[in-house]
Amino acid sequence: MSDYLEKIKSQISNIQPYRGKYADPIEGDFVVYTGPGQFKVPDKVVLGYIEGDGTGPEVAYAAIKVANAAVEKAYGRARKVLWYEILVGSKAEKILGSRLPEQSVDVLKRVRLFLKAPLETPVGGGFRSLNVTLRQIFDLYANIRPVKYFPGLPSPLKHPEKVDLVIFRENTEDVYMGIEWPWNSPEAAKVREFLRRELNINLRDDAGIGIKPISKFGTQRIARLALKFAVENKRRVVTIMHKGNIQKYTEGAFREWAYETARNEFRDHVVLEEELQQYGGQVPPGKVLVNDRIADNMLQQLLTRTGEYDVILAPNLNGDYVSDEAAGLVGGLGVAPGLDVGDFGMMAEPVHGTAPKYTGKNYVNPTATILALELLFRFMGWREAADLIIKGVSKAYAEGYFTGDLVRQMTEEEKKAVKEVLGTQEFAEKVAELIKEL
Ligand code: NAP
Repeated sequence: MSDYLEKIKSQISNIQPYRGKYADPIEGDFVVYTGPGQFKVPDKVVLGYIEGDGTGPEVAYAAIKVANAAVEKAYGRARKVLWYEILVGSKAEKILGSRLPEQSVDVLKRVRLFLKAPLETPVGGGFRSLNVTLRQIFDLYANIRPVKYFPGLPSPLKHPEKVDLVIFRENTEDVYMGIEWPWNSPEAAKVREFLRRELNINLRDDAGIGIKPISKFGTQRIARLALKFAVENKRRVVTIMHKGNIQKYTEGAFREWAYETARNEFRDHVVLEEELQQYGGQVPPGKVLVNDRIADNMLQQLLTRTGEYDVILAPNLNGDYVSDEAAGLVGGLGVAPGLDVGDFGMMAEPVHGTAPKYTGKNYVNPTATILALELLFRFMGWREAADLIIKGVSKAYAEGYFTGDLVRQMTEEEKKAVKEVLGTQEFAEKVAELIKEL
């Protein structure tokens, strides 16, 4: 790590650096899970963090500074985060000889809640994506991506202020499972032969094969999470995004099973679109509307009828498309956070990668990572701290403080509102300062 980053790290008092082998945290307690999705967060909580590769450490420490300011402002001395470094990625390879050492997996399993800055996936050489591996180890089945417009951000929309979405993307099934074979593999030949012989389906001999499984179990556990979020956070609508008109037994089933969860488990809190007639076409006060839209139509409606969308529930591939489209509406990758949630753990991460060409340049936007921690706090139940982070980021933009990636997208007119173009650390420090003043 560069001297510059060592210095930043040494200025953050509540970091517990890696101490050579697994050691219990010096201070603080781990979160305790008492059942699936049920946990208790101690007041002095140990949260893990993976520094990441490339620009990862720059955004990780920037975000930690902001998170610390928010916790201190919200709770004084009553609550504190102890950040516990976990070695994964190229730093782990250098020190421990493996990109995902077993001892790090052990620590992650104790910590359960952690920040992961972006990790590089080396091209070639048979490297598996560590991001995917981490999600699988912890069965983090929901990828949650909020997409919110902050006044001042560049946007291609006429009314970007209408963008306030939270996308729940299923994270373990669908094409993400990667069950596919090249056209000329023995496996593809076997599958084609099976289909021909057993089901009378004739495929061309040069057809590659992919399998897209979507299960009731997988659908309903993420539907439950999205609906619970919508109810608890008083959101307006949950829209099930699917391509069920074509793929009836995967995407169509996703739609059916999600509605079933809404009807069976959230009856008192939701109204389904088909029931609206009973209420004169209006959603009764205090209820969340549950509707569904076909994916292609929805992707264009997000541009033309932006304000109609709120919480979006999607299978893996649709969720991938819609979250990147949505991020593009409010400033792009630099401001797009994510939280991966499972029944026994949560991983906060920015959506972007390691942006290697900017490593050490103090250029990249830390907002995505800052907002990833905001989301983690929200799901931990530390809402006051989460709200302060949103207010701080919002205020920084409103007062004209931006990083270069955002300014680059602005029109000459929009640039007039820019007071200062800040580097990664300076932007985070400005947000932290604004939080303290709130
Ligand atoms: P990337 O790292 O996301 O960067 C692509 C481009 O997006 C950058 O060159 C930059 O655009 C912009 N960008 C990304 N993050 C930014 C930020 N915080 N602030 C400002 N601009 C930002 O994608 P990539 O180049 O395809 O991937 C690089 C490495 O990251 C690969 O090894 C990949 O496997 C890995 N990756 C990891 C994750 C993860 O850990 N979750 C996700 C994606 C990729 P400009 O060049 O236009 O300035």
